[in-house]
Order: sequence, then C-alpha cells, then structure tokens
Amino acid sequence: MDVVNDIIAWKRDGHELDAARIDAFVGGVVDGGVPSYQASALLMAMVLRGLSDAETVALARAMVASGKTLDLSAVRRPVLDKHSSGGVGDKVTLVLAPLVASCGAVFGKMSGRGLGHTGGTLDKLESVPGFRVQLPQGEFLRQLERIGVAVVSQSERLVPADRILYALRDVTGTVEEDGLIAASIMSKKVASGTAALVLDIKVGKGAFLKDLEHARDLARRCRLIGDAFERPVSCVFTGMDAPLGRAVGNRLEVEEAWDVLSGEGPADVREVSLTIAGLLLALSDVGVDEAEGRRRAEAALADGRAAAHFERWCYVQGGTWKPGQFHRLAGREVRASRAGYVAAVDALAVGQAAQLAGAGRRTVEDVIDPAAGVVLARVAGDAVDAGDLLATVHARDAGRRERAVAVLDTAFVVADAAPREGPVVLGRG
Ligand code: URA
Repeated sequence: MDVVNDIIAWKRDGHELDAARIDAFVGGVVDGGVPSYQASALLMAMVLRGLSDAETVALARAMVASGKTLDLSAVRRPVLDKHSSGGVGDKVTLVLAPLVASCGAVFGKMSGRGLGHTGGTLDKLESVPGFRVQLPQGEFLRQLERIGVAVVSQSERLVPADRILYALRDVTGTVEEDGLIAASIMSKKVASGTAALVLDIKVGKGAFLKDLEHARDLARRCRLIGDAFERPVSCVFTGMDAPLGRAVGNRLEVEEAWDVLSGEGPADVREVSLTIAGLLLALSDVGVDEAEGRRRAEAALADGRAAAHFERWCYVQGGTWKPGQFHRLAGREVRASRAGYVAAVDALAVGQAAQLAGAGRRTVEDVIDPAAGVVLARVAGDAVDAGDLLATVHARDAGRRERAVAVLDTAFVVADAAPREGPVVLGRG
C-alpha cells in the first residue's frame, strides 16, 4: 500500500499525524515523490479535521527543514521583523522599518509581492525609482549592520515546501486552516533568521480573517511555533473593514507613509505603526518596555529622525526618493449621490478597484503600474452633501478608469446616521 495514501486516510479518519508522517509528506512534496493530487487530498483532510498544536509545530519544523535557512549572526544584533496577514492600504512596513531603525533597533525583512486585492511591500518599494529589492545576501547583512534596516525579496531557496503547498492551497479551497496558515507564515520567518516578530493580524471584511476569535487562534499557534524555535512573537489585531489610511496603490501608499514618517498622515496608519513600533522595540535589545518604545517612536516621528532614516534607507538601497514627484495619472472621481454620513467604505471593493486600475496583479505574470490606485477623499464617519467627492481612481487609460470606478462606486455606503467609531487596534494576543 502506498505510504502517502495511508497518511491521507489516517488524517481523513481523524487521527493525529506524528512528526514522521508529516516529514514524509513535506519531504515528498518537495522532491516530487508526492504528486499534487495526493498533496491536495491531504491538505483537504487537514482543513476538514483541523491540525492539533503538535501537528502545527511539526509541520512548521518540516517546512523550515525543506530548504536553506539564513544565518543573520554576522549582524551581531537581534534582527526584528513584522508580518501582516494582509490588508488593503497596508503601508505600515514602510513606516515601521525606518522608524524602529531610527530608534536604534535592527529591522530586516524578506517580503513577497502582492497578489489579488492586497498590495505587496516589494511593489511599493519598487515604485521609488531605482529601489533594489534583490540584494545579494552579503549586502543585505552589511546594510543591516550599517543602517539597521533592509527589506528585500524572499529568497527562492527558503522554505520551498511553502511555495508548492501555498500554490496548491490557493486553488483547492484549502487556505483557511489556522495551523496551515501559522506554519506557512512562521516557517518563512524562522528560515529567514528573524530573532523576534510582531504579527499584525488583520480582522474584517477586507481581510481573510473575518472575526477576532479566529485571529486569536492564529496568534496562539504562531506564538507556539515561535516558542518551539525560541523566537518571541507578539501579536496585535487590527481592523480591516475599511482600507488603512486613504491611499491604495503602490506609489500613492509610499507618499502616505512619508506623510506619517513626517509626523502627519492619517491617524489610523500612525496608530497601527506606533503600536507595533512599541511592541518591536520591547522585543529588541534597545532595553525598553512597550510604553517607552512607543514614546521613543513618537519622538522620532515628531523630530524628523524617522523621515531622515527613510531617506537614507532609500538612498542606500538604490532608490531616489523625491516626495510628491511622480507622474500623476489621470483620475476619475466617485461622488456622493445623497447627503448623509459615510457609514462604510468596503476595503475589499476599494482593493479590487485599485487592482483594476493597475495597482495589483491577478496572476503572478501581470505587470503592475506603480502610479495607479485609489485615493479616498472621505472615510467612515465623515459627513457629506450630495455631489461631494468620495474618492478618485488613478489609472493609465480610460478603460481601466472606467472598470475601476464601477467597483469603487459600490464601496461607499452613505446613511442618515454616523457609524459608531471603533479603534483601529482591536487587541493583543
Ligand atoms: N500568508 C502566508 O504566508 N501563508 C498563508 O497560509 C496565509 C497567508
């Protein structure tokens, strides 16, 4: 009898998989011994039966062992990272990376590209002319040592099992299982040498986690894996019913991140950035608790150090940063059809509109337009009159503007009463 078939049947029947079975499965996925139809069947059994804590940790271990791991000890300092589970308008890494570095910590990140309605940090950075996201390993390490910040593209050699499994999960309805998600996220962080991590778990209509209970379970499992590898993990839950900030689209988001780094910008982006900065500095070797970390981050935003560090980072990584200087694409506006209050701005619809404008990919082959996207003129709670500007979509041609505006129009709900305003930071886990 086929060993893999036995493993699938074992899990299908509700038994726990031991580390040996999980190792055999992951090893076979990477060396080709487990064909995709068997891998998909086991993934579905995992989703339907759920993964235990022991299975989650064993899966993460097998995934880390499936490829190379990066040794960051040459930096001689703990290298911190932050991971977001993905949201619309999420430019927090662009603020956070230079912010915590300007406070004396070391922030190093291997990042992915955006797919679907959420953008990727690499695409945002590449919207700064000349910014290089593909650095040789030695340069990555030297940059971390020298200026305390580097964000580069994920090496193909780390966690090959995740690349294969994630591509299968994406097309077989098997993304949504907390253990699979936790093992996927954490294996990449462990393999890339992260010493400590803050996880920003997005919750709401525009995120793939719709409720806080689910988010808490994911946080618990990520911490469990972090404990197994002695990598401390702090988690924060942040709202994603509406986009974060007002800009959605690569260069537009870098501009907004710059505003926050300069002590201005939208309050929600600032709040999420400062909360995570406090948590990261508390995990660092700077020797502060969370409250003092946040206080130092606030000071760095106020006195220009964070903005200066962003400029230096761009320069060192090859980018030419000239705020406000980029080719602004023609815009098409969405206006309010009635008076009232903006009751909701649907993050998913705004993200889809930005994608249609050219800011995001539908498939990995798609080429994105760095200047395309959406700028919100009104956000939830704002009063509007009939005909007031709600948002503008920027795209290179009229066809894209047309398609994007049709979706953007559905994002806004204008009602008689203002909605109850909740905080953007929903909790810690
Ligand atoms: N992000 C990941 O890296 N992996 C998942 O499984 C889901 C989101």
